[in-house]
Amino acid sequence: MDQHRADVVVIGAGTVGAMALWQLSKNSKLRVVGIEQYGRVHSHGSYAGESRVFRTAVHEGGTYVRMIQRSRDLWRQLEKESKQQIYQEVGCLSIAPEGFPDLETALGTVRDFEIPHRVLTTEELRKEYPQHRIFDGDIGLLDEHGGGLRPEVAIMSALDVAEKNGAELHFNTRVIGVERQQNGVLVRTTAGTWLANQVVVASGSWSTRLFPQLNELLRLQVLGLTWFMPRHPKQFVPRKFPAFLRDIGEVHFFGAPSFDGYSFKACTNPEWPVFRDVSEVPTHHTRDELIKIGQRAAEIFTDINPEPVRESVHHCAYTPDRLPVVDLSDDGRIVTIAGLSGHGFKFSPQLGEWAAQLVSGSTDGVDPRFALASHMQRLSVLGPYAGGGH
Ligand SMILES: Cc1cc2nc3c(=O)[nH]c(=O)nc-3n(C[C@H](O)[C@H](O)[C@H](O)COP(=O)(O)OP(=O)(O)OC[C@H]3O[C@@H](n4cnc5c(N)ncnc54)[C@H](O)[C@@H]3O)c2cc1C
Repeated sequence: MDQHRADVVVIGAGTVGAMALWQLSKNSKLRVVGIEQYGRVHSHGSYAGESRVFRTAVHEGGTYVRMIQRSRDLWRQLEKESKQQIYQEVGCLSIAPEGFPDLETALGTVRDFEIPHRVLTTEELRKEYPQHRIFDGDIGLLDEHGGGLRPEVAIMSALDVAEKNGAELHFNTRVIGVERQQNGVLVRTTAGTWLANQVVVASGSWSTRLFPQLNELLRLQVLGLTWFMPRHPKQFVPRKFPAFLRDIGEVHFFGAPSFDGYSFKACTNPEWPVFRDVSEVPTHHTRDELIKIGQRAAEIFTDINPEPVRESVHHCAYTPDRLPVVDLSDDGRIVTIAGLSGHGFKFSPQLGEWAAQLVSGSTDGVDPRFALASHMQRLSVLGPYAGGGH
């Protein structure tokens, strides 16, 4: 088979891959190639499912705030370059009983980073957001820079802009092996080989198949999505109904406003085990799971039909402590960005920008805890991710 040359080969044109290709394509001196096993924007990736919650008031504390703020600017930039609407800044509303630990952390984050926000009392929540059934003692935090992202549109936009800038994209082509050679990295695919100076690994949940170290580190968490029909859909349009996180006891819900005019997204995850390979992940909820999710949704929203009108099941690669892997190998040839751990879509533009920066040899500004060696050290103490996150 043919052997091609490239400066940088990006493995995977999903979330990280699309953002990396967009950023790398800005350097007209580089021959940049993207290789994707499926077609352009498909339904198998960790990005699938219509919307992703964007929030700056994160309950993970300060680790991600700067990355998210930078990403907010980059989402706007991508919208401008692609002339598409990707990011709807409709706010993100967290509702939980006063004193709930995640909410307390998010409140600390907004204060520490001066993030525009409102704190709502139980009565204010009842008055302003009648779509939610508010229990005594619930309070709200409205993150005014939060909202909803359209993941499929985002990826299509980043790939289109990358291609317009000169990146070469190959779809329906699977990478089957990556080997270091003296003069570069040999990337073997189902449609020929590429000898690249550098490689960006952006293969998400499938990374465990290509790289033994990532196979040790990453575990796949199943994440399900469900959409419900409200009796008054006009109450659930983006202008009136922000993206949300909701905690009641052990149950965590997240979701987004209605983009289709008849249903809105409200999801909570059954206790699924973790998996090692994408082929093991269930492809649908069971009937019992859907009935339970519907009952819970009907408890926390007013006037909705408890039967989900749409559902889908996805996967995402997690690290033990849910920090992403952002790594440059010692020889400078392999950049790895993986393990986005169920919360990485919102800051993926920052990861794409870092991919381009790491290719140029600089690790400036990248949290050293994200390096692969640092992850492997923690793995030996923590053991692999065992589930229970969301
Ligand atoms: C249901 C769900 C809800 C989520 N909600 C949120 C949210 O609200 N907010 C948020 O910020 N984050 C959220 N996340 C997390 C976020 O969406 C993921 O972390 C992110 O999309 C992962 O991106 P990725 O690039 O690692 O993987 P992907 O986007 O899956 O990209 C990997 C790509 O690599 C390709 N590939 C793999 N192997 C090969 C190969 N050998 N050859 C060629 N191509 C290959 C794949 O086909 C795929 O296109 C959610 C995740 C899920 C699953």
